[in-house]
Amino acid sequence: TVGKTASLLGMRAFLVGGIVRDLLLGQKQKDLDFVVEGDALLLVKELGKNLPTLKLISHERFKTASIILKNGQKVDFATSRVEFYQYPAALPEVEASTIKEDLYRRDFTINSMALEITFGHIGELYDPFGGFADLQEGIIRVLHNLSFIEDPTRILRALRFLGRFNFKLEDNTESLLLDAVSSGLLELTSPGRILQEIKLFFAEKDIFKILKLLNHYGVYTEVFPKAHYEEEFLSRYFTFSFEFSRYLKEIKIPWLFGVIGIYAKNLTEISKFRKKYPLTREEEETLIKVTKGIGEALKLLPSPRDIKGHEIYETLKNLPPEGFWALYLLLDRYRAKVRFRQYLEELRFIKPKITGEDLKALGLKPGPLFREILNKIKALKIDGVLKEQK
Ligand code: ATP
Repeated sequence: TVGKTASLLGMRAFLVGGIVRDLLLGQKQKDLDFVVEGDALLLVKELGKNLPTLKLISHERFKTASIILKNGQKVDFATSRVEFYQYPAALPEVEASTIKEDLYRRDFTINSMALEITFGHIGELYDPFGGFADLQEGIIRVLHNLSFIEDPTRILRALRFLGRFNFKLEDNTESLLLDAVSSGLLELTSPGRILQEIKLFFAEKDIFKILKLLNHYGVYTEVFPKAHYEEEFLSRYFTFSFEFSRYLKEIKIPWLFGVIGIYAKNLTEISKFRKKYPLTREEEETLIKVTKGIGEALKLLPSPRDIKGHEIYETLKNLPPEGFWALYLLLDRYRAKVRFRQYLEELRFIKPKITGEDLKALGLKPGPLFREILNKIKALKIDGVLKEQK
């Protein structure tokens, strides 16, 4: 439909970027990106007329538009004609740039191919920078020598693709990348943009491989300030046991689970990470709770004396699931691990039948004492002292 509508409007339309790469690799891709040689806004408007149920989003300023499909999939449209203003008061100058210029602004050759979908040219591969050959050889190559300087987050993107596809860096690209790293370009990059890349790392299947690459290319502590790279621990952390994986379902912020693994051996340093990146309040609070929760658990659980169930419950109840696996690995005594498992499987689900309502019925007013009594009842139940009838 896109190709047909574009053809009717006299525009050339292309699929571009990651989707083309993944189609050629025979892999699934989530997002569809189109570039049109013409006004993308006009094209999307026209598409909307034929398919009135679609949700359209237009960005006039950037001449881009998106369509949200019924299944939630997002389809992006960009215009390869760039309008820019030379000085604030000047008339807009319309630069009739072509698909080639659009592709030239991209990161690596394998991401700079286009597949034409214009009527009469459907399926023609447009590959001006040799992306297809690099894809076949498994090579990540920048399009020009200033690429990493122009956008240092490409350093991280390169390592992510290396890890994902098991590719190699082309020689010149590798030395450009190393130069960019040693001239500290990542330090000058906005933390928000680096954070976006970090989140993408943790969405990868083999995150361990990517961490290894970050370390190899000297950007590990740039990305994770003050973190120690401990390969053995990281490999255990990111290959969690099948048995444990059921707790992962409780995790609300999966990428934070990854960050916690990186700092697990030195949790107090995670504050450097918190300070560097623009986290949401929820993300920040989760990290603080995990640091505190694990710290307290490590003081209590390895104790040689017999710890009461309610003490374990009290200590662990505020530890978010993002920290479960880290704590489990950090407890090296078998007995401590067993007690933690007991918390995970039983203790935290114990609820006395007596509730606040019962206390109210006895004439007690809600307040600090009220809370204290309820907590005490819960503690007794957890310790098995209070037995209630079914
Ligand atoms: P993924 O499979 O991880 O989504 P992708 O290649 O589709 O990979 P996107 O971030 O969705 O990645 O970007 C889509 C396309 O936009 C890329 O294929 C690339 O052509 C271009 N692109 C993205 N980020 C950059 C960047 N920092 N510099 C240059 N081009 C970029």
